[in-house]
Amino acid sequence: MTTNQELLLLHKDCRKCKSCELSKTRNNVVVAKGNSKAKILIIGEGPGEQEDITGFPFVGRAGKMLDSALMSVEIDPLEDCYITNIVKCRPPKNRKPLLNEINSCMPWLTKQINLLSPKIIILAGSTSVEAFLEIKKPISKMRGEWIIKDNIKIMPIFHPSYLLRSPSKEPGKPKWLTWQDLKKVKAAFDNL
Ligand code: SF4
Repeated sequence: MTTNQELLLLHKDCRKCKSCELSKTRNNVVVAKGNSKAKILIIGEGPGEQEDITGFPFVGRAGKMLDSALMSVEIDPLEDCYITNIVKCRPPKNRKPLLNEINSCMPWLTKQINLLSPKIIILAGSTSVEAFLEIKKPISKMRGEWIIKDNIKIMPIFHPSYLLRSPSKEPGKPKWLTWQDLKKVKAAFDNL
């Protein structure tokens, strides 16, 4: 079986998951979108309303923001990236996922990473940094600096939904900082 087939099988299995309480309120399990051979893995927090309805991550306003941020540094969101979340089912009213929900869902992410073998991981927002790296620090203190784990270069960035609330592109503002962070990702991607 090819890696692509294994990943598709994982998607199928994950869509049936009932390992935590979020299975009771979701409409769809939101597993991933993008290229199963991508070298860049993007991990957000969890699905929102539009994602829950469509079954795909980052399709709402925050998703469009992420796409345009990636495209501004010539990274193709669907061709160069595989995009997922820490939890695959929408937390009610978009609350933060609980620790037990994160822990229940983490094996899916681990399997995705094992199959994908990404060279670069972008962690979008503090929840994904905290859950994935087990580091509890404000995202403003973490973003923009590479972290190396298991030979993977990891770049924390602001969550795109935060950028929606902070639209200024002036130097030093979150959008401009995210652009700097993604330029670093693009340089590392070009060097792979
Ligand atoms: S959030 Fe994750 S662990 Fe919980 S039901 Fe959905 S897929 Fe399963």
